[in-house]
Amino acid sequence: MSASARTALLLLVAFAAALPFIPGVPPYWITVAAYIGMAAIVALGIVVLTGVAAVVSFGQAMFVGFGAYTTAILTTRHGWPPLATLPVAIGIAGLLAWGIGAITLRLKGHYLPVATIAWNISFFYLTGSLDYFRRFDGIAGIPPLSIFGISFAEVTRFYLVTLLVVVALVVVTRNLLDSRVGRSIRSLKGGALAAESFGVDTGRAKILAFVYAGVLAAISGWLYAHFQRAINPSPFNVNVSIDYLLMAVAGGVGQIGGAILGAALVTIVRDKLQDVLPWLIGAQGNYEAIVFGTVLILIFQFAPEGLWPYLRRLFGPPARARPESAGAAGLLRPARERPAPGAEILRVTNLRKAFGGLVAVNDLSFTVQAGEIVGLIGPNGAGKSTSFNLVTGVLAATGGSIAFRGEEICGRPARRVAALGIARTFQHVKLVHGMSTIENVALGHHLRGRAGALQGALRLDRAEEAQIFADARRQLERVGLLDCADTLAGELALGQQRLVEIARALALDPVLLLLDEPAAGLRHAEKTALAGLLRRVRAEGVAILLVEHDMDFVMGLTDRLVVMNFGSELAQGSPADIQRNPAVLEAYLGSAA
Ligand code: ADP
Ligand code: MG
Repeated sequence: MSASARTALLLLVAFAAALPFIPGVPPYWITVAAYIGMAAIVALGIVVLTGVAAVVSFGQAMFVGFGAYTTAILTTRHGWPPLATLPVAIGIAGLLAWGIGAITLRLKGHYLPVATIAWNISFFYLTGSLDYFRRFDGIAGIPPLSIFGISFAEVTRFYLVTLLVVVALVVVTRNLLDSRVGRSIRSLKGGALAAESFGVDTGRAKILAFVYAGVLAAISGWLYAHFQRAINPSPFNVNVSIDYLLMAVAGGVGQIGGAILGAALVTIVRDKLQDVLPWLIGAQGNYEAIVFGTVLILIFQFAPEGLWPYLRRLFGPPARARPESAGAAGLLRPARERPAPGAEILRVTNLRKAFGGLVAVNDLSFTVQAGEIVGLIGPNGAGKSTSFNLVTGVLAATGGSIAFRGEEICGRPARRVAALGIARTFQHVKLVHGMSTIENVALGHHLRGRAGALQGALRLDRAEEAQIFADARRQLERVGLLDCADTLAGELALGQQRLVEIARALALDPVLLLLDEPAAGLRHAEKTALAGLLRRVRAEGVAILLVEHDMDFVMGLTDRLVVMNFGSELAQGSPADIQRNPAVLEAYLGSAA
């Protein structure tokens, strides 16, 4: 974060804390500010869930309800003190989010938001019709917040507690997103397939984001119950869920600051409209919904990323503080034991893949040994990329066998294949565009780190992160892109993005490296540099399988070639043999060659 942004943020927090003590500020404002804080906590969860993990939920008010009802029931019926119910509220919401997420998050496209609406409506009618929840009358007589004997019944005190919780959760959320687990959550937006290929369990990352958002909502609900002192199902209905989503989107769903800004904006605009409209229009009615809707449409039209990015621009670009010093060595999983040169690394036998009637890979067999570069060549559509997808577990084979260091791996999912030390790049580059270049490389370290979500959120992962970033810098230097470490990956030229993919693959510390057209889009000098790098990687004992169309590049670099045509093997041999092979010349290079 740049110095001016940090100062602005500290000033904002100081102002928020001083608000109740400024002479002339009506107590009513403090109440509104408390509501803003509670809403911001929910919106903060939506930033992680929707803005970062790209999961849209119309059911967050239900999780607010989980927190509110848990503490309402425990305090009024079982005499629990408020603070003691907080861990229970968090636990229940987290567990239910996990269960609901496990069922619901498998749904693709618009089914998922629809399912969250359904869950929320069910919750509304469940609480509204069961005696246990006192139906639509709700539960009254909830005690005010008191912590270690200090009462927070008074508005100013309650507001200050809420503010403290907001600040703490902002810090925790920022820490989480800036960690090993955070990168896996951030990869969900556009990079899930690539992340799986580096060992990330993206299904789990999604559920984690869902649980996190649910827990934050429950914390907000817990505060709400003790502020209102009485609850009923209405504030936890689906229309309130939509409000929360609107807050995050209007503020800027991609960023933490957006949650706070959106919560403030929506709460204040709603509140003011209720005051001003009847006076303006001269009639009672639900006009505020119409005006409110119009305001939001204007925001979406003119600031589709929300309003926060505009505000942030005033304070200059955010420069992230990276863990610099590498600290004690040896925290990352150690480099894999290198196989002896010449040892067989990959043996593909009669590999087959059919897409309906089209046989994309037809009984392909070949081997790759440690310390050699094997080129897989053939015209477009020959089945090269499909073969890569089969070996790396991205696609399931129709038949055949894939043995990695003697172990059958056919049928294993991509992230288990990655764990064996198989790293790849993609023909169609798959970087997370919204993440910096070095963070994209660090995604390749996923399996070498260990820090979990809690360690990340509490910043107990710094030593490991420092090592990850030190190694990521090393890999970027190897591909000649150290200067671009902090550039957003989406802003790099395509050729550079390919090199970042190679750095990310090297970050896995692979035994087998699969490169799909790595030289496409590179200039001549860059190709020469890349060839040099691949020779050095080969000399370290890594086995490389290379798909490439640039024949000068291929012939000068590879030890052996496998030529494919229409899914089948056309020939195998040394580059010199292949260049003289009449069948290859005919089918691949064209009869003119
Ligand atoms: P190459 O990488 O050698 O250019 P591919 O492996 O990408 O070739 O494609 C081989 C053939 O399989 C092509 O005819 C392509 O259209 C087809 N193909 C590839 N992926 C799919 C898919 N997911 N579904 C259907 N057909 C596919
Ligand atoms: Mg291809």
